[in-house]
Amino acid sequence: MPDLQAIVDEIHEKLQPRLGEGKAADYIPQLAHVDPKKFGIAVIDVDGQTYKAGDADVPFSIQSVSKVFTLTLALGKHGETTWNRVGREPSGSAFNSIVQLEHEEGKPRNPFINAGAIAVSDLVLAGHTPREAIGEIVRFVRYLADDDTIAIDPEVAKSEHATGYRNFALANFMRSFNKLTHPVEHVLGVYFHHCALAMTCTQLARSGLFLAASGRNPLTGHTVVSRQRARRINALMLTCGHYDGSGDFAYRVGLPGKSGVGGGILAVAPGKASVAVWSPGLNNHGNSLLGSLALEMLAHRTGWSVFGP
Ligand code: GLU
Repeated sequence: MPDLQAIVDEIHEKLQPRLGEGKAADYIPQLAHVDPKKFGIAVIDVDGQTYKAGDADVPFSIQSVSKVFTLTLALGKHGETTWNRVGREPSGSAFNSIVQLEHEEGKPRNPFINAGAIAVSDLVLAGHTPREAIGEIVRFVRYLADDDTIAIDPEVAKSEHATGYRNFALANFMRSFNKLTHPVEHVLGVYFHHCALAMTCTQLARSGLFLAASGRNPLTGHTVVSRQRARRINALMLTCGHYDGSGDFAYRVGLPGKSGVGGGILAVAPGKASVAVWSPGLNNHGNSLLGSLALEMLAHRTGWSVFGP
């Protein structure tokens, strides 16, 4: 095993002069007001050892990274029938694009673009009130991270709702094609709340560890999903986890990952480690600029890649 603490320290050090690069999301005040110079990284290997640097224990808005957890929950509830409602192909268009949805008659391309995650929220909602579904998601993430302090930031959820015109458009559009089974307000209530989960890099890396360890969380011993399902979620993260920057991320980093507009990225090195990075400045695809760079450096220094030794 490479000296992971030395590597994360070196990445943190090397990125110091570049902190603040990129453009932080500003569609809601809670994201616009985050210090753009924040940077955190946490790596947890499959033996449960943690290596971290920078602001790894400062909570941030995980936004779309939460889509990995809601997909895992939906697959647990609905199994393969999940794929009747949402596809598994990269979208090649922006995270909140509506154009493709029209062509494809309300069936979103994949679970990680907004429309797809809204369809997944509809699946998680089955048999629940919105409040219960939100509670189930929070409990699931706490169980994954083995940390009961993880919570939703209610102010972020409120702002997402107040400014979510495009998400309302996407959801109404799907509903018009009979592709949502619950009222739009309920589905988006669930969606906005899971996007508003606040977590630290350390908590996020812990939550993703089951994906690096064949479906079993080595910290708790719990089997979260089967080995095959862990592989499949990783495949979707690789092909669809970075919106229309997914190809570039695969090329540069070579690991499955899911980003969020809060500047967080969860990446998985199967059989090796789970990694979370956070830096609020985004590149022009809406993915963390320095976060992607940190992961590229980590992959380079460790030799981790799903494409070869
Ligand atoms: N809540 C955000 C939205 O739906 C999530 C976007 C993201 O992280 O990509 O606009």
